[in-house]
Amino acid sequence: MPDLPSFIGAEFVETGLWLNNINPRDGSLIARVAECSEAHLNRAVRAAKAAAQQWARVPVTERSAFLLALAEGIESRFEEFVEAESLDTGKPIYQARSLDVPRAIANLKFFANLLLTETSESFASETRDSRSALNYTVRKPLGVIGVICPWNLPLLLLTWKVAPALATGNAVIIKPSEHTPTSATLLAQVADKLGAPVGILNVLHGRGPQSVGEMIAAHPGVDAVTFTGSSTTGSKIMRAASSEVKPLSFELGGKNSAIVFSSADIDVAVAGVIRSAFSNSGQICLCTERVYVQADIFDPFLSKFKEAVSALSFEDSSREWLTLGPLISGNQRDKVLRYFDLATQEGAETITGGGVPQFGDGRDHGFYVQPSVFTGLPRHSSFVREEIFGPVCHVEKFTTEDEVIAASNDSSFGLAASIWTSDINVAHRVAPNLDVGMVWINDWFQRDLRAPFGGTKLSGIGREGGNHSMDFYAPPSNICSSIANGLPV
Ligand code: NAD
Repeated sequence: MPDLPSFIGAEFVETGLWLNNINPRDGSLIARVAECSEAHLNRAVRAAKAAAQQWARVPVTERSAFLLALAEGIESRFEEFVEAESLDTGKPIYQARSLDVPRAIANLKFFANLLLTETSESFASETRDSRSALNYTVRKPLGVIGVICPWNLPLLLLTWKVAPALATGNAVIIKPSEHTPTSATLLAQVADKLGAPVGILNVLHGRGPQSVGEMIAAHPGVDAVTFTGSSTTGSKIMRAASSEVKPLSFELGGKNSAIVFSSADIDVAVAGVIRSAFSNSGQICLCTERVYVQADIFDPFLSKFKEAVSALSFEDSSREWLTLGPLISGNQRDKVLRYFDLATQEGAETITGGGVPQFGDGRDHGFYVQPSVFTGLPRHSSFVREEIFGPVCHVEKFTTEDEVIAASNDSSFGLAASIWTSDINVAHRVAPNLDVGMVWINDWFQRDLRAPFGGTKLSGIGREGGNHSMDFYAPPSNICSSIANGLPV
């Protein structure tokens, strides 16, 4: 794999400063990545500012066509994107092939189509002194958008932001995670090959603190920041962006609950909760880390859950049906292992896992942990309250609806929850009372791209998806035109 350059203006730039991109499967070096400095960011901001002014005036049909061309460019190099995403993240190749890259393509196509079909709000109004007016709205792009992304679903989350930002006439400065730089670089290659307008899409590699991530947040020429990542980083970005009072869109961490009622089909619930807790080795913001099971089915549920989790296997790239990969880095693995220790110290019973698997091959140098389930912890324990972000959950017994609603809401996070029951009345009584941005009933991770996506409390600010995204990147402005009475005198 060659060194990965940054992409500034319309040029691939080797900055002379290098970061290592490490393979989480075995700790080996994948590539060196060109880290940007403040001077590179200044250059990108100048290019993006000039580009945004032009791009905002380009007809929507052309902007839509550009997004479709980007999507087709990814499609034409589909397997290359799949391999890059799987190599950087360590995720099973089938997941990159069935989720990450197809969703990235769908994101671009979705916003290309939405741009052509959306209409603006308009209405006639009458004021108290009987003056009539026609009100209508026009979208005004914000200008230069800083796009700061995490490593868990790199291209999927990046395009989820870049597509609506470009659709609405902005230019973007993308900072992918330092752990997963490749797919963003490939996207820059696709844009370059299409002859994208100079400066509308820039990819600046680097780290977060005291590096290009923090600089993007603080730069006066970056008009808004859209960020997906941890709540701690969100708070730092907010501070850095505060002097300019920048619009911020934040998709942050979660400590999501799954609530299994005694009316649930246990086999469906076991399969669903396993998917919600262990997909992508637990490294999805929506993953379940707290499982609440109604008392009368607690024992049979836990026994089936233990059996199914113990049977989960680690990925072997030649066998697509195996599902678990490594964690992203040695630091992330050590963090998760510290939580395993903490569970024991806080008095948990280990149902399964709790350690590091031994493979007897190169993967022993990678960043794997066992899929793990604990029970028996009090609700105030750190293990039950803090986001861990690994293949692990805690299972707890509850008795009444009110009790489980209170337990689920007793969290600083508010991203998502799932409810498992065959009683539709229970489901719709409980769902609206959960203080989260998204509730699934007998499902998890089912996404319609028009639906609002986002969290409450420490889980974020704002909503992404459909018109919610369009409203962030190009907020509607009101124009009010007098109808009958002319200008006021
Ligand atoms: P992170 O916050 O460590 O890093 C995310 C990005 O922010 C990276 O590109 C990083 O370089 C950059 N960054 C770090 N410090 C920065 C700073 N001070 N200023 C500016 N940029 C900075 O998160 P991560 O470890 O990459 O991702 C995991 C986290 O992301 C988890 O908390 C997870 O829940 C969250 N996440 C949320 C969603 C969502 O939609 N709500 C989706 C995916 C991941």
